[in-house]
Amino acid sequence: MQANILELKNISYAYHNLQGETLALKDISFGVKEGEFVAIVGPSGCGKSTLLSIIAGLLKPEGGTIVVNNPDGSLHYPKVGYMLQHDHLFEWRTVYKNVILGLEINHMMTPERLAYVDKLLHDYELEKFKEKRPSELSGGMKQRAALIRTLAMGPELLLLDEPFSALDYQTRLMVSADICRLIRRTGKTVIIITHDLSEAISLADRIIVLSRRPATVKEEVMITLSLQDDSPLAARHAPEFQGYFSHLWEVLTNENQEK
Ligand code: ADP
Repeated sequence: MQANILELKNISYAYHNLQGETLALKDISFGVKEGEFVAIVGPSGCGKSTLLSIIAGLLKPEGGTIVVNNPDGSLHYPKVGYMLQHDHLFEWRTVYKNVILGLEINHMMTPERLAYVDKLLHDYELEKFKEKRPSELSGGMKQRAALIRTLAMGPELLLLDEPFSALDYQTRLMVSADICRLIRRTGKTVIIITHDLSEAISLADRIIVLSRRPATVKEEVMITLSLQDDSPLAARHAPEFQGYFSHLWEVLTNENQEK
């Protein structure tokens, strides 16, 4: 398999405030390969979002380094796209004006990028909804629009922070499978944070399990599922699914019980 494009080495991070210090991450090391879909799971409050913010470059680690090995030998940090819990579409702008917002703010409205946005709107079946307002879209369509807005900027690494958790359960099942299928088609490298083990197993190539705070890497699990069809629930019906779920459940339950 190819080399890691991103390697986290002994990352640690603490929040400092007047009450003292909160050590969030301790000695975190793992690599991410180009085109890989990695899920990070762990107990609530263990440091998952902190870790994602460090990978995004929004926070600077206090200890450790992030090494970049671009396949072309260049040294630039991968361009990062971030998708958050809420789609954050602005109701006062049309769907089209929302998806080009990043391009507009960053003065990147080139004919090539706008053509790419049009292609994504077409491919993701949102073309007819360009002039609608976000409230006129279904939950799934809003997430598609949010994905187009993210992809429009040409990210090389996609970071997804619980992107489906604001949706109701049934919508979430459909939308997560749909959005991840679309993301996989782009071949982008993805790191997703989720507290939903089923979601992690059904979406990721590899799951990194974090311990309670301060988060350390407790275990890494490679996921291989035999899919019977291409329905949104196919991964959850795969014969290997339950085995992975039971194993991860045990690791996390032990983690919650350990003193
Ligand atoms: P998770 O995403 O796993 O729920 P976070 O990364 O959001 O966890 O937070 C990890 C820990 O750091 C939590 O205990 C949280 O209370 C603490 N924390 C997060 N942000 C801050 C902050 N700005 N100041 C102080 N502590 C923080």
